[in-house]
Order: sequence, then C-alpha cells, then structure tokens
Amino acid sequence: MGKVKGYNTGGTAIHEVGHWHGLLHVFENGCSPPGDAVADTPYCLRPDNDSCPTSRDSCPQQPGKDPISNWMGYSVDSCMSSFSHGQLLRAEQMWHRHRLPGG
Ligand SMILES: [Zn+2]
Repeated sequence: MGKVKGYNTGGTAIHEVGHWHGLLHVFENGCSPPGDAVADTPYCLRPDNDSCPTSRDSCPQQPGKDPISNWMGYSVDSCMSSFSHGQLLRAEQMWHRHRLPGG
C-alpha cells in the first residue's frame, strides 16, 4: 500500500472508525440543515483536502468557523485532532442502538 503525503499517519483510520460509529462528514449538506446532523459541529461548505485552513468560514450565514481540526473532515492528518461532544454522543447512541448484541 502506497503512502499518500499528509494522510499516512493514521488519521484516515480514525475518520473511518467515526463513520462506523454513525458519524457523517462535517461538510455533509454544505451550509444547509441538517448539516452533519450533529448540533455542535459548525456548518462547512466543502472538504478541506490537502490543507489546514484553520480560520476558514465557508458558511458565514451559520454560526462558527469551519471545523477544520475535526476528524470527520478531509484535512491532512497533522491538522486533525478532535471529535465534538455532540459527535461522541451520537456515536455512543449509535453504538447502543445498532452495535450492542440485543441492544
Ligand atoms: Zn469519510
């Protein structure tokens, strides 16, 4: 498997685990509700491939700057560092609803 510059330190694995736990991309639905269906991740118009534009605000009509450091975006690994509280809550609810045997 080849290495892709900027994406070879494990961030993609964390991102995919996020999907498995029911999380959507932070840029899902762009600037329009329901966005990624998580209340505390700011809206984001488009992915931020190959970069780390930390002060970008692609949805000025919505509160908050783009969640550039969120694991569910497409920033380079060195840029990403967090899930929001709402994402963790959604993942936990998803786990209890769909992943636990008999849950
Ligand atoms: Zn993804």
